[in-house]
Amino acid sequence: MHVYSDPASERHVNHMAGVESPERFPAALTGVEEAERAGVEVEHRPCEPAPRPALEAVHAPAYLDQLEELAASGGGYVDFDTALNAHSWEAATLASGAAIEAAEGALSGTAAFAISRPPGHHAGRGYGMGFCLLNNAAVAAEHARSSGVERVAILDWDVHHGNGTQDIFYANGDVLYLSVHQSPFYPGTGDAREVGEDRGRGFTANVPLPGRSGEDVYAEAFAGFFVPILREYRPELLLVSAGYDAHSDDLLGGMRLESASFGRFASRLAALAREVEAVPPVFLLEGGYNLNALTESVAATIQGLEEEPPAWEYSGDTRPVEAARKALSPFWESLR
Ligand SMILES: [Zn+2]
Repeated sequence: MHVYSDPASERHVNHMAGVESPERFPAALTGVEEAERAGVEVEHRPCEPAPRPALEAVHAPAYLDQLEELAASGGGYVDFDTALNAHSWEAATLASGAAIEAAEGALSGTAAFAISRPPGHHAGRGYGMGFCLLNNAAVAAEHARSSGVERVAILDWDVHHGNGTQDIFYANGDVLYLSVHQSPFYPGTGDAREVGEDRGRGFTANVPLPGRSGEDVYAEAFAGFFVPILREYRPELLLVSAGYDAHSDDLLGGMRLESASFGRFASRLAALAREVEAVPPVFLLEGGYNLNALTESVAATIQGLEEEPPAWEYSGDTRPVEAARKALSPFWESLR
């Protein structure tokens, strides 16, 4: 496992959202250390800021200019919960850079984790919101595509729907976006019937779950929805928007996952990547606001890559998963 990070992650302060705190960065890195102590071999890698063309493959130039200028002027805000300080542009471009380098690392054969903040999955082409400035997963996906990778999938297990990632690929289908999230919940998007538009139809796959859902329900979403779609799509590269706010101890989310649940998600996806001959998965830190839960869950994710995958089989009678299957079944034979 290669871990990509930069100390600038701790210098970004979003004073409008205390829970997305600088302390999340060392807490996540402590999770990496825990995995190392448990015997996983980890190599720490530095990263560079994402180059401007890589950012412009996803974001509107005027929006990038706005972020850079706000930070240069000492800070400001882009939404009611999303503020920048003087270091935010540097931190955000390094977070996207870490995602790019993690994807490159995976493409050369090693599983990777980009540990950085601010997170990214709520940021769209021309907007930031929900603590997110640049969409790190989308930037990494577009970078991989520009280097010749044809099939990229982003799986988002953050408790919130990744509306920004969905928006970016909604009408083009360039990247397969899959999300499991709490609903109804912020940001309000991610209905099972949101399946993409135009060329993108069938390439957005949402499983909204009611609050208080536990690992048993997530296992149904993996076995009955994500795994069959991914088997059929056969991504060459799988990026995971790894948020940890569906943990039962999280300050924002209302789900009931345990730290170990994320290890089982990771091992299931790693096994799937091997099965479809993709490169090892890439994990990108999104949310997760209880520091202890964040540490434990990051450790579990990394350790999960070396564990046997859980033997989850779809029962066929979990209502939100059935709804998601029905919505996507016109596009994916494996769901019919
Ligand atoms: Zn979240």
